[in-house]
Amino acid sequence: MKFGAHVSAAGGVFNAPVNAAKAGCECFQFFSRSPQGGPAPKLTPEIIAAFKTNCKKYKQTASYIHAPYFINFASALPRIKHGSVSIIRQELERGSALGVTAMMTHLGSAKDLGEAKGVAQTIAGLIEVLTGYTGSTELLLENSAGAGAIIGDTFDELGEILKAIKKKLPTAPIGICLDTCHAFASGYDWSDAKALATTLKDFDKHIGLEYLKLFHFNDSLTELNAQRDRHAHLGKGKIGATAFKLIVQHPKLKHLNAILETPTETGRVADLKLLKTARK
Ligand SMILES: [Zn+2]
Ligand SMILES: [Zn+2]
Repeated sequence: MKFGAHVSAAGGVFNAPVNAAKAGCECFQFFSRSPQGGPAPKLTPEIIAAFKTNCKKYKQTASYIHAPYFINFASALPRIKHGSVSIIRQELERGSALGVTAMMTHLGSAKDLGEAKGVAQTIAGLIEVLTGYTGSTELLLENSAGAGAIIGDTFDELGEILKAIKKKLPTAPIGICLDTCHAFASGYDWSDAKALATTLKDFDKHIGLEYLKLFHFNDSLTELNAQRDRHAHLGKGKIGATAFKLIVQHPKLKHLNAILETPTETGRVADLKLLKTARK
């Protein structure tokens, strides 16, 4: 398992691998465009070359793009629905140009349409994103923290969405990014070996462990099943340090990477240290 964090790409995407190395990362995540919206900065051949050179020079083993925040495949507003499809496809193409490993997105909320319609529209939107896509950057669906009508908070629902896409597009490059805080907030426990085994068994049953491609490692400020998304530094929340050690050392999870989205840059130094010690 290689460890990294979400880092700044201010001034240009080629700065992200530099910032990652400075923070002690072995892999990293970044925004390729403003997470709040607006057009994406152009990727010129020079920018692409600088990004690739820096990834090598700063010994980054993998890179990941996080989609903007406003993505909602289940929106009743055509502008948001179509915008989500076109931006995720753009980000996959931009990721492929940069040689990025994968990009992850949240799916959105079905509060306007209701769950059944919202899930159906999400599946249709993701199929549209992936139809004709021949790039190398993999699309990862991130599990969410479960408040209200949010889509993708249960393994059940994520599995349903993934299977429907695979049925239509069997070779589509798609998998799951599993956020430990969001899962915990949605009732999936990690805190000891038994809880971890149960959670993995549940994931395997509904989704398939082979579709697990990346972890977001965040501890949780709120209790198990609190339905709230409040990230904490590793060992400083209700999940606890033991959980992260167990995940890092688990034989079936060793090949996966993990990205930190914990609150502060200074606190992440300790997070990375804990993970690197656990790996030894
Ligand atoms: Zn996350
Ligand atoms: Zn979160």
